[in-house]
Amino acid sequence: MNAPLDAADGDLAQQLDRSHVFHSWSAQGTFAGLAIAGGSGTTVWDFDGRRYLDFASQLVNVNIGHQHPAVVAAIREQAEILTTIAPATVNLTRGEAAKRIVSRAPDGFNKVFFTNGGADANENAIRMARLHTGRDKVLSTYRSYHGNTGAAIVATGDWRRVPNEFARGHVHFFGPYLYRSEFWAETPEQESERALTHLRRVIESEGPASIAAIVLETVPGTAGILVPPPGYLAGVRALADQHGILVILDEVMAGFGRTGRWFAFDGYDIVPDLITFAKGVNSGYIPVGGVVIPDAIANDFDERVFPGGLTYSGHPLAMASIVAALDAMESEGIVTHAAEIGADVIEPALASLASAHPLVGDVRGEGVFWAIELVADRGTREPVSAATMGRIKAGLLERGVIPFIQDNRIHVVPPCVVTADEVGQAMAAYDEVLTTVE
Ligand code: PLP
Repeated sequence: MNAPLDAADGDLAQQLDRSHVFHSWSAQGTFAGLAIAGGSGTTVWDFDGRRYLDFASQLVNVNIGHQHPAVVAAIREQAEILTTIAPATVNLTRGEAAKRIVSRAPDGFNKVFFTNGGADANENAIRMARLHTGRDKVLSTYRSYHGNTGAAIVATGDWRRVPNEFARGHVHFFGPYLYRSEFWAETPEQESERALTHLRRVIESEGPASIAAIVLETVPGTAGILVPPPGYLAGVRALADQHGILVILDEVMAGFGRTGRWFAFDGYDIVPDLITFAKGVNSGYIPVGGVVIPDAIANDFDERVFPGGLTYSGHPLAMASIVAALDAMESEGIVTHAAEIGADVIEPALASLASAHPLVGDVRGEGVFWAIELVADRGTREPVSAATMGRIKAGLLERGVIPFIQDNRIHVVPPCVVTADEVGQAMAAYDEVLTTVE
């Protein structure tokens, strides 16, 4: 066992980072990240031994918690056996990982195409849908994030939607968001019905026969944890069926326990045509993602080549980590725990936070997937300023909680293994910080 890292290592880490690391999604000159030395479960610590509750699960991916011993051991054991092998080989661990994933999918989904992460899962699902249908257009929502590669970033709806050479054929529409409804809806049912009318009009206007797929996050995550209103996903399915359009459900953030279910769509009246996943499948211990494919689409590639794959697709260390993570989630009841702690502890705690703080405009979510939306004025629903969100973030870090802050929202997204006691500690920090900024 190596000696634990200390303050001197922390200084060196900062110095090397400043000199040599070019950070993603950051202005390099103002980048300031926490220096993390280690972690366990819901907790991580810095080089001075200062502990933080990870209520962001890093990038909402560490569902099983940090350093789960069974997953770490499985990676170590696999490394002793075979650290790498090309995708176009037969590998036992890969088959075991795929079997465990399809066993959670609906009937008829029997194959998994492995990728290196979530963006390229969406990339390949879109390509598969275009090849399968022979159509070109892809519809997705403005409030979405599907990843930062060619087609995935164009399918993304938020400000990160950078036009690129893959931008052809992408059309965006508004999905439901009752708190800030484009449809003047007052009830979830109205929001659902009107969002479906809007989608129907978009499909008709674009020409249904030109549309290959509708890509949706089952529960849009980064965009605000927008739990779909009753009937919405079933309505999308019906519209898609009417026009021979495929539905790709992006379960990269919502899947594998986050909502308190294996797949988020298990809670809604929809069966997709393709499922994309990453993050929670192995809690990010080794980069991996994939597409779960039903026989009807997989068989289409029996006689023709599917043009997709990267050097590291189906990497043995990633596969071993999936097998161990899913087995541990099953045997330790981690998905059920996420559902219960969400309903019994997080939901009531957020309700009392909302009643105590005028800044809280809305709380919504399920499982360990919640958003607190902050407003300067409950009447006008004007979002709080970026400066206030900056103070909230700093205040939470000072109190030992790593928050997931997005726009005017705090996303409450701890690992699925979070305890009631840890939720209580984080809620106390949210409460104190909101009092301070109010
Ligand atoms: N899809 C969703 C819903 C996501 O939340 C993300 C990442 O946050 C992605 C896709 C992209 O995944 P990755 O960063 O692994 O490429």
